[in-house]
Amino acid sequence: MSNPQTNFPRTNILGFPRIGQNRELKKVLEAYWAGKASESELQSTAKDLRAKHWKLQAGALQINGNTKGLDFVCVNDFSFYDNVLDLAYALGAKPKRFENLDGLEGYFALARGHKSGVACEMTKWFNTNYHYVVPELSIDDSYRADASGIIAQYKEALALGYKPKINLIGLFTFFALSKIQKGEPAEVFKKVKSAYLDLIDELATLKSGGNEVIIEFSEPIFVRGFDAGIFGLECSKGGSAIKCIYDSITEKGITAIVSTFFEHSKELTEILLDTKIYGIGLDFLTGAKNFDSLEAIAKSDKVLFAGVIDGRNIWVANLESKLSTLEQIAKIVPKERIVVSSSCSLLHTPFSKEGEESGKIPSEILSWLSFAREKLSEIVLLNEVFRNGVTSETKSAWEQNKEANLSRAKSTKTNNPKIRERVEKIAKKERDSEFKKRIAIQREVLGYPDLATTTIGSFPQTPELRALRLGYKKGEISPSEYEKGIKEYIIDCVRFQEEVGLDVLVHGEPERNDMVEYFGEQMEGFVFSKNAWVQSYGSRCVKPPIIYGDVARPKAMTVEWITYAQSLTSKIMKGMLTGPVTILNWSFVRDDLSREAVCKQIALGIADEINDLQNAGVKIIQVDEAAFKEGYPLRAENIKEYERWALESFKISTAVAKDATQIHTHMCYSEFNDIIKTIEALDADVISIETARSGNELLKVFKSVGYANEVGPGVYDIHSPRIPSVEEIVAQIKALLEVLPKEQLWINPDCGLKTRKWEEVKPSLKNMVEAVKVVRKG
Ligand code: GLN
Ligand code: ZN
Repeated sequence: MSNPQTNFPRTNILGFPRIGQNRELKKVLEAYWAGKASESELQSTAKDLRAKHWKLQAGALQINGNTKGLDFVCVNDFSFYDNVLDLAYALGAKPKRFENLDGLEGYFALARGHKSGVACEMTKWFNTNYHYVVPELSIDDSYRADASGIIAQYKEALALGYKPKINLIGLFTFFALSKIQKGEPAEVFKKVKSAYLDLIDELATLKSGGNEVIIEFSEPIFVRGFDAGIFGLECSKGGSAIKCIYDSITEKGITAIVSTFFEHSKELTEILLDTKIYGIGLDFLTGAKNFDSLEAIAKSDKVLFAGVIDGRNIWVANLESKLSTLEQIAKIVPKERIVVSSSCSLLHTPFSKEGEESGKIPSEILSWLSFAREKLSEIVLLNEVFRNGVTSETKSAWEQNKEANLSRAKSTKTNNPKIRERVEKIAKKERDSEFKKRIAIQREVLGYPDLATTTIGSFPQTPELRALRLGYKKGEISPSEYEKGIKEYIIDCVRFQEEVGLDVLVHGEPERNDMVEYFGEQMEGFVFSKNAWVQSYGSRCVKPPIIYGDVARPKAMTVEWITYAQSLTSKIMKGMLTGPVTILNWSFVRDDLSREAVCKQIALGIADEINDLQNAGVKIIQVDEAAFKEGYPLRAENIKEYERWALESFKISTAVAKDATQIHTHMCYSEFNDIIKTIEALDADVISIETARSGNELLKVFKSVGYANEVGPGVYDIHSPRIPSVEEIVAQIKALLEVLPKEQLWINPDCGLKTRKWEEVKPSLKNMVEAVKVVRKG
């Protein structure tokens, strides 16, 4: 492949989902962890999955009885848990607490914990909902490469007759995502680098059979404008450390492609073009500025892996418009140096549409969807037409794609003039009065004390409750039986909260399977697949709602349950909703309308619900924005714009609340320090927010910049089964009182209690209420 003129590749993906069409990997992993499957069963399922996925890649498109496929199959995109963890393990980056463990036992210990120590942390992979295991690095540790796992998979692919390409996380991305436990970053880097280069050496031995060893390095950190200087990384030969490393890598005689995705990587592209790598992969969907790099690419000798098929979305590609993108690129970069590629790994899309015909998605909408397997054929078809134009061979597939796009554009399902007009003409975007005036009225009407106690909404989801909901969904439990069961649960929740003495009660959310799905199922514009699972972490998969059309809320979604709960008590019952930004960020969103417009449609639906709730006498309504932070763009330059419409959407949803109706919101899981002013601008009367796990970082912010509205910084961490003592909570409340006055403070746990057991929740909340009493006494 060193001579692009004669033997250049044409098609590529950055990885395929590994969980399996029917989540085979999930099932065997969980059986293995439970001691119900042997290691060899686990390995053999994994081998079958790889073979199956390679076969799909190599035979992506059937036209006129001919099979056409991708130029390579991806090797090492498979993982038992996570690719970052795989690389850490292959480099011997194992925390000391696991040093005596090896093989799969050691591997899973890092991921899931072990009796010899707690698991490594896990966090989100850039702005996706995929979580990677955070490697722990230390100057005290030594690193040693072991490429045997990758080599074995490579040979597996060769033996099956495929041409493999190895997918590997780049050294800089790996390093930047790791946690350095001890030592100067530059010193730790040297150690890791040397193991990484050894790993490449080992992989380069695969050349021996006359193979060309192709490695695609994923460097998404480069879209953050990665600056090697901040780690003190230098090149002994002078110049950029990035150039230095990639030159050392190519010296080993492998064919290197370096790919970035999820945004543009303009600054780093320049450096990469100055190295001896073979190809550069860029995302032309979310990284429009990558077009600015085309001239420089043309001048270089690099092959451009052009990410034009969306690896993160589920919509059928508009191949005509993709073709024109490619042609636009080809005006600058010679066609024979352009590879048609996915924008990122297909890991973020479900496996295949196959089987959905028997599900709930109407066939018209189904024709607009394209999952991982279908995307493979889009890439091959697009490439055929890009090289040869539409031929008799490709004509019918091409026409079919055109039709799907046309039907989507013209359908009344995607264009509801009434909804569009309503969004255009939104008049009410703010509450009637300012916070100061509102809170005075609310305090008067609601009469809650300082340091008022409440919870975030959900109570333990027991197996009986899950069985009740499932049975009802399947039609095995009658509506009246279901209603009775839910009501009984609500009664129990109310009684318990009264007994323990909480000030503001919740109904416990027993009717909700998931905080987004529950609302999506009741709104127009959403569909739910049967099997469109996407890996979230390890064996855990999620099935996000699909927003295909204009969104509206035809009728009240929560009023009956909340008013029922209120009827059981003379205390205040808090209504519970999910906010528009969170519904958006946790769904697959249509790509034929701006996210802003979709978010505002959802916001209006939530506004309608708030209005119904307050008219039904509900006085406090919480609008959860658990995923507000997740939507933040990767590049600083885009943040303002996201904040503008996300903020606007939240405010549109709550503007209908009368002065006397108190709006709460809740956020979890993230660092809020830099965005506290944005959160304040949401103008919720009360926010409950996580602080415990972030080591009280937020308290420092409250102290330095202040916070205007009422706030309930979680006083204990619900993510662990531990029961916090009264003393501990007293100490936490006292710490809060150092930075915020008691009139502004609410006392609550840091998130919903659905994942906990009653045995944990009851004493914890009892201690929380007790702690407040202690503090009040002084
Ligand atoms: N109200 C939801 C609950 O209590 C909030 C969940 C969340 O913040 N993730 O479960
Ligand atoms: Zn939460």
